[in-house]
Amino acid sequence: MTSSPPSPEPPAPHVVVVGAGPTGLLLAGDLAAAGIAVTVLEKRPEGVSNLSRAFGVHARTLELLDARGLADELIATGQTVEELRLFGSVPFDISRLPSHHPLLLVTPQYEVERLLLRRALQHGAVFRHDTEVHGVEQDSDGVTVSIRTAGAESTLGADYAVGADGVRSTVRAAAGIPFPGRSVIRSVLLADVKLAREPQLTVRVEGGGGAFGFIAPFGDGYWRVGGWTREGRDLPDSAPVDFEELRSITERAFGTDYGMHDVRWIARYHSDERQAPRYRAGRILLAGDAAHQHSPAGGQGMNTGLQDAVNLGWKLAAVLGGWAPESLLDSYHAERHPVGRAVLRSSGLNLRLAMAHNPAEVALRLLRTWVVKHVPAVSRRAIGEITGIGYRYPAPKGAHRSVGERVPDQPLSDGRLYRALRAGKFVLVLPKGAEFDPAGREDRLLVAHRPDDRPAPRLVRPDGYLAWAADRMDGDAVEAAVRQWTGPRSLASANAREEVAS
Ligand SMILES: Cc1cc2nc3c(=O)[nH]c(=O)nc-3n(C[C@H](O)[C@H](O)[C@H](O)COP(=O)(O)OP(=O)(O)OC[C@H]3O[C@@H](n4cnc5c(N)ncnc54)[C@H](O)[C@@H]3O)c2cc1C
Repeated sequence: MTSSPPSPEPPAPHVVVVGAGPTGLLLAGDLAAAGIAVTVLEKRPEGVSNLSRAFGVHARTLELLDARGLADELIATGQTVEELRLFGSVPFDISRLPSHHPLLLVTPQYEVERLLLRRALQHGAVFRHDTEVHGVEQDSDGVTVSIRTAGAESTLGADYAVGADGVRSTVRAAAGIPFPGRSVIRSVLLADVKLAREPQLTVRVEGGGGAFGFIAPFGDGYWRVGGWTREGRDLPDSAPVDFEELRSITERAFGTDYGMHDVRWIARYHSDERQAPRYRAGRILLAGDAAHQHSPAGGQGMNTGLQDAVNLGWKLAAVLGGWAPESLLDSYHAERHPVGRAVLRSSGLNLRLAMAHNPAEVALRLLRTWVVKHVPAVSRRAIGEITGIGYRYPAPKGAHRSVGERVPDQPLSDGRLYRALRAGKFVLVLPKGAEFDPAGREDRLLVAHRPDDRPAPRLVRPDGYLAWAADRMDGDAVEAAVRQWTGPRSLASANAREEVAS
């Protein structure tokens, strides 16, 4: 009897992530944790970090790191701050934020990257360092990434490619996506220093007289000090940085240089305001600085990129896992592009006010300071934007009023929500005693119960936003919502992928 040769295994779904900055690392970890094969291509040699750069991790990012079991460990690396003082008189009390992490964590970017890299490796993401991407092509079946490693050229095929390769993104260029915008500030000086006279442990921004400065404690004896003067502008990032220049800026902005000494890192930095008009071109997606670049005011660059990654990861995993249609990927742009635009707008406004020079600009700054200080709704909105907890996503017409909202952490009858989210699945939160059988969907759905007597069921997405809600329990409505978001029960992956393709 002749036996027919075994049919070849279908290739595993595979994503190539270009760039091992914070955005690429988080995305790679999420994809790998969801069982998707992921290869990260990074032009830096292994072990060479992105240096200090970003220093603030905001509340929403901490919540999302909590949903990956990393928040406490990261918090231990830095200094927590509960109040921001922007322009002297405007204190933002973040200790009362409705969040499990009502604080700003000041820690160097490399600490964030260290934890995210470890997690991605633990889940099996493959890293190829010293590997520069110089082209990406796509067709209806997948992408082909052109790479150069130690002078040798080769290609790598995958289902999707994500450009997390920073502001000068090669992937963005290869996808033909423009990056319109303009340069807003040049020659911002940044340094990590020790201070002989340490101020109060808070993050302060002060400006006036054609200069502004900011200061934040890392908690290990070092402080991030930075600043800008009107006279110093227009120098390229490569211009040598003079410690005396930073000392004099700090003195102008704060009235003292705090006796700064022992520099462990110093850089000159410029910032553009740019945004890609599309975060997706077929099988190529953009995330982080590759998709948006904004002013450093508010310290949102890294935070926004990490939140992009969280939004994209579960969607790519769902599409490649065969339980969501490919159109789900369009919601990545629909949800994250407006957030990027809002960050551009608010951080740009704050920067322009910090740089205020002529009488009209100075008057506007005084007015904004007064409004933020005296109008609670404006203050709440500003703090929601800076910390990231104020953003919600658009809801479809007719949806429950809460759909699209960020869901804060909350107790469950057995634990708490952000612990449950560590499974990387949807969490269906049912009223006490209500039942729902997750059979056939255990790989994408967790069922939990409220600890109180409220009757409202909620379906929380893996990224901690509300997918569906109702005011009372109705089993059929719950099944319909769960099916809409997580697909039918017992979906054989291969069949589902065919369904999606057809
Ligand atoms: C000096 C400085 C100070 C900053 N300070 C702050 C701050 O205080 N607060 C804040 O929020 N943000 C700050 N930022 C911005 C913040 O660092 C970025 O927003 C953040 O790093 C974005 O992360 P990312 O992963 O999207 O991109 P990146 O961190 O830029 O990572 C992109 C990665 O892609 C790799 N790469 C690029 N091209 C290729 C290619 N063709 N092939 C392979 N690999 C490639 C790069 O080597 C890099 O590792 C600062 C930036 C700089 C430069």
